[in-house]
Amino acid sequence: MSKTVLQGIPVSAGIAIGKTYFLNRGSSTSTIRMNIDDEHVHQETARLKQAFSLALADLEKIRKKIPKELKEQTAIIDSHIMILKDKKFQNSARDYVREKMINAEWALEKAESDIESAFIKIEDEYIRERVQDVRLVANRVKSQLYGQPADIRSLTQRMILLAADLSPADTIELQLDKIMAFATISGGKTSHAGIIARSLQIPAIVGVEDLSELQDGHLVILDGFNGRIIVDPDEDDLDHYSQLRYQFAEYQSLVNRDCYLPAETIDGYKVKVFANIELFEEVAAVIDNGGEGIGLYRTEYSFLNRETLPVEDELFEEYRDLASIIFPNRVVIRTLDLGADKIATQFGPVREINPALGLRAVRFCRKHPELFKTQLRAILRASVLGNVSIMFPMISGVEELLEIKKIFYSVRNELKTKRVDFDPVMPMGIMIELPSAVLISDLLAREVDFFSIGTNDLIQYSLGIDRTNKHVSYLYQPLHPSILRSIKYVIDAGHEAGIEVSLCGEVAADPYCVPILMGMQIDSISLNPQAIPGIKRIIRQATMDEFKELLKRVLESEDVQESNRLVREMIFTRFPEELMFYTSLIEE
Ligand code: PEP
Ligand code: MG
Repeated sequence: MSKTVLQGIPVSAGIAIGKTYFLNRGSSTSTIRMNIDDEHVHQETARLKQAFSLALADLEKIRKKIPKELKEQTAIIDSHIMILKDKKFQNSARDYVREKMINAEWALEKAESDIESAFIKIEDEYIRERVQDVRLVANRVKSQLYGQPADIRSLTQRMILLAADLSPADTIELQLDKIMAFATISGGKTSHAGIIARSLQIPAIVGVEDLSELQDGHLVILDGFNGRIIVDPDEDDLDHYSQLRYQFAEYQSLVNRDCYLPAETIDGYKVKVFANIELFEEVAAVIDNGGEGIGLYRTEYSFLNRETLPVEDELFEEYRDLASIIFPNRVVIRTLDLGADKIATQFGPVREINPALGLRAVRFCRKHPELFKTQLRAILRASVLGNVSIMFPMISGVEELLEIKKIFYSVRNELKTKRVDFDPVMPMGIMIELPSAVLISDLLAREVDFFSIGTNDLIQYSLGIDRTNKHVSYLYQPLHPSILRSIKYVIDAGHEAGIEVSLCGEVAADPYCVPILMGMQIDSISLNPQAIPGIKRIIRQATMDEFKELLKRVLESEDVQESNRLVREMIFTRFPEELMFYTSLIEE
């Protein structure tokens, strides 16, 4: 391949120069029909048989680990086990191999589509919908046929990882001694893969259309600032990007020098700058980058990639250690935001047509009250030092919040009866990330001690765009008038009620958006630790008057393009040297 440039969406800044490695390539490409000759028939039927038994063994293993109280999940798995055990499916695929002389993968697809057509004709809607189960089971067998996911551990040198998709669970498994950057075919501006890449400080790009055409071992430059992959670069590219990589490292060490100074404007307006973290290990990065505490601890990540659910003591120790390391600064522990793309496999396969609108966050917790109460007990027990706050995600209305509070207080009373210590005045907050919560933020404010605006989801749910979908990524506009009005409305409602308002979406790490938040007089922001020094620096070099003037002009503007232009102009004029080192959610 001669020099080619692939374009995607930049989600984590930085430059990586290295060789490519495509993770689990087979499953990302569609099935291909291959005609086989007589001598391969036995081999293909044997492969099919093995794939069916491996898929069955896998499911039986998962079933054993499901706690007894989760009967519904067990029932789903049981039905999948039944489909796998029913020899009709397997025999039909085997007969296709023998009669049509085709490869196992294609035969499996044919057998699957026969069953699907039979199901579709069934009148009973419930039974008809079970076709979904057949698909899920067939996918399990397929992934066995394609081979187990490639093992990153077998890599002998650091590579640039390419993948069709990386789930939040995959991303936290990335080993930095093996992976220097990554790019995926799917994903949007605030997909969790990008959030983790920023935490790990590795460059990353998502939504790259033609990625699967790249063979393993290609030399590429991954430009995480502009979302470009330069395949087979020439000498000039290598020189240019090596220099840019060096300049970025220099810039980082320059801004890091002042990272412990407060985020205070020239005219004395101070904002607190906290950190978002996903894993306990990131606490060191919070301290190293001048974070003034943890504004968002995404606790669900400790539930991913493990076979069993953590027990209360394990969670308690994790939260207690975090609180004591960060003391006297505060840590906001967000209760589980499982669901949507953050799937805890301990609950079996998920069957939701619209998972982002389904059993996620507090809804998931209400469905699994024992799990929720275990976490609440652990948080309360870890609060004794007095620097822990609790925060509930995805609150949609007052009744829902009251229900959650009821569960919280019942757990608290239970601990009190048992004479277990906890902080009796632990602050309680909620994420404002649904449009419904924005519009009733005055009512919600009466019930809590603080708000944290989650723009990643607020933009997704307000503008009706899946945050992980690259096809609608162009509509992901933080400066859309509806988003700006929503943020302002929440800040004003919070202040009116005398409570603190923070913002912890990716907007808080975006140099083009922070001036707007400052103009709205946000009390604190929370962002990935690595972005803290740069954002603090911008705040320290400007005045509140400047921020307010920019906000006024942006609020007066009626379209996003104009708002984008206004904020770009300010940053271009005031902070020209910062520009090349940031990725932004704002379109050019
Ligand atoms: C958000 O939605 O803005 C947020 C911070 O939460 P998460 O990204 O974990 O959904
Ligand atoms: Mg969210």
